[in-house]
Amino acid sequence: MPEAPAPPVLRRDPVTGEWVILAAGRSRRPHAPVPGEPAAGTQEPDCPFCEGREQETPPEVCACRDGDGCDCPGWKVRVFPNKYPILANRLPEEEAAGGGERPAYGYHEVIVDSPFHNLAPWQVGPGQTCLMLETYRDRIREYRDRDPLRYVLVMRNHKAAGAASLDHPHSQLFALPFVPPVVDAELAGFERHVSREGACVLCEMIASEEREHVRVVAASENFVAFCPYASRVPFETWLVPRAHQPRFEDNESLEEAAELLADVLMRLRNELGDPPFNYWLHTYPLRGEFRPYHWQLEIRPRITVPGGLELGAGVAVNTVPPEEAAAALRGAPGWMPARSRQDPPRRS
Ligand SMILES: [Zn+2]
Ligand SMILES: [Zn+2]
Ligand SMILES: [Zn+2]
Repeated sequence: MPEAPAPPVLRRDPVTGEWVILAAGRSRRPHAPVPGEPAAGTQEPDCPFCEGREQETPPEVCACRDGDGCDCPGWKVRVFPNKYPILANRLPEEEAAGGGERPAYGYHEVIVDSPFHNLAPWQVGPGQTCLMLETYRDRIREYRDRDPLRYVLVMRNHKAAGAASLDHPHSQLFALPFVPPVVDAELAGFERHVSREGACVLCEMIASEEREHVRVVAASENFVAFCPYASRVPFETWLVPRAHQPRFEDNESLEEAAELLADVLMRLRNELGDPPFNYWLHTYPLRGEFRPYHWQLEIRPRITVPGGLELGAGVAVNTVPPEEAAAALRGAPGWMPARSRQDPPRRS
């Protein structure tokens, strides 16, 4: 007789207080075949994001390149306004009038990860990932003093089910005139926890994850990746700085974070067979009075379809316990040397 599935349990997200249902027996984890390595360094004739086709995108706002030049080959990471923006790509000339409707002030940019069409995010490696994270950082800094902008969200959709419209690996940036509700709920959660416990909820989570070492995926000296206790989707993984830090953009060096991100993406690929995924960077708002916060990069593989309970009521149903997901990812090959996998350095 097949083993009976464990009964579903409710888990409360320590940050937001939201309930998540873990219903492990509903479906088995997919065991997708691991794809072969695509030929590296190739271009796609019709892709405007490929190197050599710079004239087919809106003019670049910045690029990471060795020499001079603009809108020409020779770049490593390239940023330009989205050709089909969902924000107005400008700021208001005068104070916006009251009422519920106004122009969608703000900016919508495309950040192309690398000149190569066929290099998947898990394939570019720590060096190129670092250039990409530095570009995220510099773009967020760029918008810091532009009133009335309040928030910059950097995110990625990988593969069609993650909703990317072109397959050339890229990220997107949204500079918004308001703090988005998900971040607002997190800010309220951090604030609640500080007033009750006098400490940062994420610092506490990190300390207990490292102590228990059940949901940790990989770690380096200053960063940890773990599957959160109340994961909303199978294999959800957060990458966080060990030390308390509200703003991602305050990092001068991102080499270590890039190595860990590249490592986790490689593990996800090896365990799940290049799954569609989203990740987004939750950092502190651009301005406003001080509130407690600790930045996170949240990775959500898209291997299940959100059901009615999630869409209609915001209650996530996760079919793979984070403990099982983390154990599988710890065992999957990544970019980092094996010793970091088996025995990540502990907080002293
Ligand atoms: Zn391309
Ligand atoms: Zn903290
Ligand atoms: Zn978050």
